[in-house]
Amino acid sequence: MATDETKFSVLCSLFNWMQKSKTSTLKRSKFRKFLDNFCKPANYFSAIRLILPSLDRERGSYGLKESVLATCLIDALGIARDSEDALRLINWRKGGAKTGANAGNFSLVAAEVLQRRQGLSSGGLTIKELNDLLDRLASSENRAEKTSVLSTLINKTNAQEMKWIVMIILKDLKLGTSEKSIFHEFHPDAEDLFNVTCDLKLVCEKLSDRNQRHKRQDIEVGKAVRPQLAMRVGDANIAWKKFHGKEVVVECKFDGDRIQIHKNGTEVHYFSRNFLEHSEYTHAMSDIIVENVLADRCILDGEMLVWDTSSSRFAEFGSNQEIAKAARDGLDNVAFDILYVGDTSVIHQSLKERHELLQKVVNPLKGCLEILVPNRGLNAHCNEGEPCWSLIATSVDDVEKFFKDTIENRDEGIVLKDLGSKWEPSDRSGKWLKLKPDYIRAGSDLDVLIIGGYYGSGRRGGVVAQFLVGLAERPVPNTYPRRVGTGLSDEEIEAVATKLKPYLRKYEYPKKAPPSFYQVTNNSKERPDVWVESPEKSIILSITSDIRTIKSEVFAAPYSLRFPRIDRVRYDKPWHECLDVQSFIELVQAGNGT
Ligand code: ATP
Repeated sequence: MATDETKFSVLCSLFNWMQKSKTSTLKRSKFRKFLDNFCKPANYFSAIRLILPSLDRERGSYGLKESVLATCLIDALGIARDSEDALRLINWRKGGAKTGANAGNFSLVAAEVLQRRQGLSSGGLTIKELNDLLDRLASSENRAEKTSVLSTLINKTNAQEMKWIVMIILKDLKLGTSEKSIFHEFHPDAEDLFNVTCDLKLVCEKLSDRNQRHKRQDIEVGKAVRPQLAMRVGDANIAWKKFHGKEVVVECKFDGDRIQIHKNGTEVHYFSRNFLEHSEYTHAMSDIIVENVLADRCILDGEMLVWDTSSSRFAEFGSNQEIAKAARDGLDNVAFDILYVGDTSVIHQSLKERHELLQKVVNPLKGCLEILVPNRGLNAHCNEGEPCWSLIATSVDDVEKFFKDTIENRDEGIVLKDLGSKWEPSDRSGKWLKLKPDYIRAGSDLDVLIIGGYYGSGRRGGVVAQFLVGLAERPVPNTYPRRVGTGLSDEEIEAVATKLKPYLRKYEYPKKAPPSFYQVTNNSKERPDVWVESPEKSIILSITSDIRTIKSEVFAAPYSLRFPRIDRVRYDKPWHECLDVQSFIELVQAGNGT
């Protein structure tokens, strides 16, 4: 039977079998049986795009994340928006009696609701019909159209089938098997070919005969390549050991969008980490690329950032797309690698050689198109006291210091790269290592009270540039201190310092003791330049910090924070609502999984 005529219910049985099968071998053998018995080689793509929906680039995006999908399903089912089932769908994340054990799994919550409304017998939908309807769903421009497609789907399926369709739309089938395993069962060269083309249709068509091997293909201009990724390591020592004896460059891990820029004459394409076209970037930047990338054909690998001229730093992640839509101003392409030049792929050359090519091929433009090469490009302006973005490390201390400086500069972490390594599509085996602090995430902000201040140096000399912050002790409002200074702009720090100025008291060590409200350990010499004279005059700061807190010897709190960063100033919170020591300990222990 041809795949197109194959009923979707057959594919659902495969999904159910694969989900139930315990071993990868069993899952693969079910998949093989399905291919052999129900698919024609010419139509493999129709089925495989439904099995690996997250890799299918033939259809645009559905524009349906869980919350929108919930409202569309509610309307498609014709149920009242305030009914119990509607609320179940809308509040799918929340536990409790309404959503039951399925809370947090949208498709299971949806299946529960659908079961009460759809019959048991299959509606006879074929794989072809499903693909056509999914095409319509992706191309429909408003919610009403999407709802109408969903209602057609509901009429042609039962609850089981519809549950799988919801999972296909959300692009996660939870089959308990990796895409690698599906690729290997399909064809021994499928994964390699996909990694260099990101084209599932092409893979299905070119490799329809499992017995015919495909010559390893190199990357091409115009076809997205699956990006090389970084392996996470716990600390600088581990990273340094892994690269023992190698020449290592450490780079700032920028918090923007991964981009792959393909230039072919006057044609430019931007691809995302998930190999989607970033047309808004192409639109905004292609003339810059055509003029300043000196090779006719070229692929650059890098990060898209926004340079905020008012604060002279890269803007927080999330603003890129908005800015790209509005105008080009501010968008900054940072190229950290080059993969193709002229008519050859250069991924087999060493990173050191690729850095040289990057310098030859790209004509950097400050704040617009930059290159990340040690002592060049972005680093050309790297003076004492200014952020440094990449560096050849000669010891673990270099790595530690670079990491600390990077975090203090609000960046995400660092990437260590072996300068002798080649660039490998989709590789995460350790040629690049990433080191990031684990911040206590939003939702568990630490609201701490300012209890003292430290004067800055240079142009911030004589004015408070860093704060000593403390926690309350239950029930007496004593505070436990920790120094924190990064995360706010100079203006924000200045505003806080000005507000506190009337209440700041100088402290002259060793004569005067700290105000009696504050408790620090006796053997510590750590003192701020000024104290806030009493807690009720002070201001709360919301901070985030590395959860790998360290036992504090300097201060009286049982733990101190590594790399604390100020998130925002809480002028709205009264001083006594700051975090207390006990809650802090609970947070730390929850974070450490103890
Ligand atoms: P994360 O959420 O940590 O970014 P990830 O799985 O998307 O995880 P990783 O492999 O962990 O990606 O890290 C590589 C990503 O870091 C790249 O996709 C890129 O977007 C970003 N990045 C920022 N700066 C650099 C850099 N200098 N070199 C390589 N990647 C960088």
